[in-house]
Amino acid sequence: MELTLSDDQQFFCDTTRRFLATECPIAQVRALASADAGFEPGYWRQGGELGWTSLLVPESAGGGSVSGSGVIDLTIVADAFGRHVAPGPLLPTNVVAATLGRDGSGAHADVLAGLLAGDTVATWCGAEHALGEGATRATRTADGYRLSGVSTPVEAAAQSQSFLVTARLDDKDPAEGGLGPLVQFLLPAGSDGVTVEPLASLDVVRRFARVEFADVRVPASAVVAGDAPVADDVEQQLLHALVIQAATLVGAAERVFEFTVEWAFDRYSFGRPLASYQALKHRFADMKMWLEASHALTSALAREIQDGAEGVHETASVTKAYVGHHLTELLHDCIQMHGGIGLTTDHDLHLYLRRVVTERSSFGTPADHRRRVAVLAAGAAA
Ligand SMILES: Cc1cc2nc3c(=O)[nH]c(=O)nc-3n(C[C@H](O)[C@H](O)[C@H](O)COP(=O)(O)OP(=O)(O)OC[C@H]3O[C@@H](n4cnc5c(N)ncnc54)[C@H](O)[C@@H]3O)c2cc1C
Repeated sequence: MELTLSDDQQFFCDTTRRFLATECPIAQVRALASADAGFEPGYWRQGGELGWTSLLVPESAGGGSVSGSGVIDLTIVADAFGRHVAPGPLLPTNVVAATLGRDGSGAHADVLAGLLAGDTVATWCGAEHALGEGATRATRTADGYRLSGVSTPVEAAAQSQSFLVTARLDDKDPAEGGLGPLVQFLLPAGSDGVTVEPLASLDVVRRFARVEFADVRVPASAVVAGDAPVADDVEQQLLHALVIQAATLVGAAERVFEFTVEWAFDRYSFGRPLASYQALKHRFADMKMWLEASHALTSALAREIQDGAEGVHETASVTKAYVGHHLTELLHDCIQMHGGIGLTTDHDLHLYLRRVVTERSSFGTPADHRRRVAVLAAGAAA
């Protein structure tokens, strides 16, 4: 997130961090690990009141941000979520709310109102299409569409009341492969033919599932139509997912770095603090540099998304590749710095490691995003 915040943003940041520290301290995070949903509805409703789900939605659609730069404000919340390994579907709900907020038709205004209030949760079944790997198909029928395919892993699918699903129309000539443009639907979670199969999750409080669509009948009214072509909307959804993810990684790594430095000053080895040994100072210096660079990249990405900058897709992939790689490395290094205690589940480190590893591998690994950067660069050079 931005290092220099306005007074309003600083207040928003302090309020969010204080709320998470009070309502969901680490002991509560541990307790929620064995709860089905991973978060409590009352907690999420309070988050809605604090504005967690409104920041990417224009005021005309019921949303609003602290500074007028909703993407940057959202990184403040995501950073706090990382620092507190907080529960709750921050990423999918914001991706869906932003999409419905862009859909000027008002066709899904009731669903959007529920998301903004924190009364309901929605998730995004479409990351595969954003990464060019989507296999969900939609076929036109007399009164709408038939939908078939699988989306996995989908965050908070079992806890969501609505699914934003991306599919590719198969309305082209079979000789040309049969594939048409992308289309998006907003489906109620309990629609006939939709199966949600919970998956084991590394992150202790976030829940993921495999969602299957088996010949689901979808009315034409379920289509989500923004002003932009759906392919651009899907790209925008990926950008929002990546910036939330990057800010979460930064918040988590920064917190771990803070308590590891504290530990290195407190822990004595051969009569001196661990922090006084040069071999460890070098490692801390590397970590600090990775953190600062990750901060800078995440801020740049948030600003570029906010401004609709031309090179934003490249910045997004560079950010995911760098932050995903180096901050996972940082967490592993901090485990080494803690010696044996970094390995025990009694220590908080493993909660952070699980969050960071989960973020690193979803919506494209660092390797996937390095490949995207290469493809974008090759496209620009052609
Ligand atoms: C639950 C548990 C089970 C364990 N089981 C085993 C076991 O089965 N067998 C076993 O042998 N041990 C075991 N251990 C001990 C564990 O291996 C040690 O804790 C570990 O080797 C780190 O030692 P330390 O705690 O003294 O680390 P610290 O002295 O606190 O050091 C922390 C980090 O700083 C590094 N460091 C310290 N001093 C310096 C220096 N001068 N220069 C550069 N780096 C430095 C260390 O390498 C380490 O990475 C266990 C510990 C726990 C908590």
